[in-house]
Amino acid sequence: MDSCIFCSIINKKIETIIVAENEQAIAINDIFPKAPTHILIIPKKHIINMTDISAKNSDVIAQMALMVKELSQQHPQFNLVCNNGPEVGQTVMHLHWHFLAGTDIFKKLF
Ligand code: AMP
Ligand code: ZN
Repeated sequence: MDSCIFCSIINKKIETIIVAENEQAIAINDIFPKAPTHILIIPKKHIINMTDISAKNSDVIAQMALMVKELSQQHPQFNLVCNNGPEVGQTVMHLHWHFLAGTDIFKKLF
């Protein structure tokens, strides 16, 4: 999708360092990190968020999960966050999981 920043990154219209890649997903460093390690796991297909997942595209989720597993080899302890919808903080309307490591980001919440 033309107006989507993550599609532009995937289509190489915006230059970004890709920290991991598989058939259906990429991982990049978040531009405004909220933890010492803050990586975004992004499907290559333009999927809006988890509500946009169906039996037809759910294979993407398995690939994203495999990427989490790959990243966990370097960062075995982490938080995985998905803001699903603008009212709970989703600002980029292309599915992504935040992989956060190196601190307890939920210290004050849980
Ligand atoms: P969310 O608020 O859950 O939609 O998360 C969107 C995330 O994308 C934020 O943490 C932003 O800092 C991050 N972000 C936005 N633009 C870029 C970009 N060009 N490269 C890397 N991260 C980005
Ligand atoms: Zn997109």
